[in-house]
Amino acid sequence: MSDLRFKSVEEASARKPVKVNIPADRVEKYYGEMVFNRQKMFEYLPKDTYTALVDAIDNKKPLSRKLADSVADGMKRWAIDCGARHYTHWFHPLTDGTAEKHDAFIDHDGKGGVVEEFSGKLLVQQEPDASSFPNGGIRNTFEARGYSAWDISSPAFIIDGTLCIPTIFISYTGESLDYKTPLLKALNAVDKAATRVARFFDPEVQHVNSYLGWEQEYFLVDEALYAARPDLVMTGRTLMGHESAKNQQLEDHYFGAIPSRVEAFMLDLEIECHKLGIPAKTRHNEVAPNQFELAPIYEETNLANDHNLLLMSLMNEVARRHNFRVLLHEKPFAGINGSGKHNNWSLGTDKGVLLFAPGKTPAQNLQFITFVANVMAAVHKHNGLMKATIISATNQHRLGANEAPPAIISMFLGSQLSRILDELEKETTDEIVLEGKEKMSLEISQIPTLSIDNTDRNRTSPFAFTGNRFEYRAVGSSANCAAAMIGLNAAVADQLNSFADAVDKAVAEGKEREAAILGEVRRLVRESRAIHFDGNGYSEEWKKEAARRGLDVETSAPLMYDAYQRPETVEMFARTGVFTQKELEARNEVKWEMYTKKIQIESRVLGDLAINHVIPAATRYQSLLLDNVYKIKQLFKGDKADKIARQDMNSIEQMADHMATIKSTVEQMVDARRKANRLTDERTKAIAYHDEVFPLMEDIRYHIDKLELMVDNEIWPLPKYRELLFIR
Ligand code: ADP
Ligand code: MG
Repeated sequence: MSDLRFKSVEEASARKPVKVNIPADRVEKYYGEMVFNRQKMFEYLPKDTYTALVDAIDNKKPLSRKLADSVADGMKRWAIDCGARHYTHWFHPLTDGTAEKHDAFIDHDGKGGVVEEFSGKLLVQQEPDASSFPNGGIRNTFEARGYSAWDISSPAFIIDGTLCIPTIFISYTGESLDYKTPLLKALNAVDKAATRVARFFDPEVQHVNSYLGWEQEYFLVDEALYAARPDLVMTGRTLMGHESAKNQQLEDHYFGAIPSRVEAFMLDLEIECHKLGIPAKTRHNEVAPNQFELAPIYEETNLANDHNLLLMSLMNEVARRHNFRVLLHEKPFAGINGSGKHNNWSLGTDKGVLLFAPGKTPAQNLQFITFVANVMAAVHKHNGLMKATIISATNQHRLGANEAPPAIISMFLGSQLSRILDELEKETTDEIVLEGKEKMSLEISQIPTLSIDNTDRNRTSPFAFTGNRFEYRAVGSSANCAAAMIGLNAAVADQLNSFADAVDKAVAEGKEREAAILGEVRRLVRESRAIHFDGNGYSEEWKKEAARRGLDVETSAPLMYDAYQRPETVEMFARTGVFTQKELEARNEVKWEMYTKKIQIESRVLGDLAINHVIPAATRYQSLLLDNVYKIKQLFKGDKADKIARQDMNSIEQMADHMATIKSTVEQMVDARRKANRLTDERTKAIAYHDEVFPLMEDIRYHIDKLELMVDNEIWPLPKYRELLFIR
């Protein structure tokens, strides 16, 4: 009997909710208390420093050294007042996580003691010896210089007594080695391009912001059960496990009452979020058992992304206080829903107008249609790239699987918006009658007063219009949203620029501006109609239809990354100033390498579990059966003995078959790995892992799951799905 499994089940079942320290104050009192926000800046900085810093943040200006010294001094005093003793530059390397190296606020005082020290130089720029971060060959290890530099648009915060300064991370020669640098560049590009187009409608617009509201899905597993599953510990997902008799078919978990242990965890997490200025707002059960979601109020994209990364590490920490482990993997359990991180994305002007929201007047609606059509065109043109931005070794299990978007990017618009675009497309005249010149209200028959019903939801679409924003649902739960946000914002920026060029040109040729806009919008809608699909994205017919429409239907993750290096992508990123070709090449190397490593680890863990856990357990049970058969044959004779022993004999044979197949497939898998490891090109290696190693893992799993159904429950060594998913 497997002690570990039963001990862990017992331990997990006995747990009570952990008591949460609820602050005595109301939320507005402690909200953001661990953030060096404007209120703290005002309190701790000299008045002229405060004014100059706010000006630099708002108008994207560089900081002078003198200013940095003054800011650093105030920031240090605030941090020390809050009990911080260390500081770190906090950055986002290409590993889908965050990195930090802590230094204490001390320096020699020249008298054998120390002083608390933190200069502008330390605040603004550092040179972490970061040679072991993935860089795709940009920095060879002996020239291990990378710089981290403060991103003043994201406020510093304190976590566990350490002042964290959000920074970008770039190489000695200026290439970005992180997610934040290109994200800031993409946001800058979309600001410029969208402002240009928004000014067609309101010349007063100065800036356009990109907004992101992510919805973080996750699973919780009791930590004792987690510890008894080496696959969860090492890879974040179950590499084996037969479906439990009950899973999500009753659909009784979604929006159901939150279990009390989980509720305590959520409350604790929300309090931590609020102290750190993360506007956590919504929490609920998700569709699968033990699956949940947390969503904040949306924020400017760079800040929202910092907050998501911070949240993911907070979740891990807070969960442990509650004897849970958080699974952020996109597909921790086969056969039930996986976890995504819907990226609700929109653009809005500094005048407070959301550009994907229909307005009250025809002119506002022309602006709305203009922006929607440009997003359509960008997503259509770069649909292969969009997919490349969200795919990973972990998210590949989710796309196309249970209740997840297919591995094809299409756009859902809903019946009303579809009808409007259809009519617009059909119309052949560019004649526009202007009514009442001073109000510029347009009498455009094609653009009626719009009321878009945002309840028109299609859960099968990877990219859906939802009333005043787009919801990019294909993003994975463990991903850094920046990857998706870089691709999307850059592609839309590039598209808006070419739109503005075309309109300017038509106007220069004497066309009325509104007519020029309408003409261009119509062209975009016509040209990108292939991306629009409101039907069932899960159906087989859609896959065929999408291929016919010329959309990217590639299903192999390593090949999807090729989209980053296609000429139209390279040119788009060059025009928007987001990535150079060298950066794109280096980053793809990292992606392929990460892909290989993840599958390699999974494959090793599976081999180990199969040979050292599963086969011994199955053998033990098989020998019990053999023993039984032997005794039957001693007691009974002839046909009677055969009849009584038949069932057991069958099981013995079946188990022998499964075990033999498992052993030989594990050998094949080791062999496939060995061959793949000899390949030197990262892309080819990743393809080998995808094509040759991965399918064998599926085969092995199939036979293990069959054995799980046969072997005595008392002997099975690993917690089963019904335990992992239903004990809490
Ligand atoms: P649902 O699960 O129905 O999609 P949620 O309320 O869980 O809705 O999540 C919606 C998310 O979208 C929230 O994070 C919300 O702040 C965000 N959101 C709402 N409006 C916008 C917008 N204009 N731009 C970006 N995000 C938005
Ligand atoms: Mg949603």
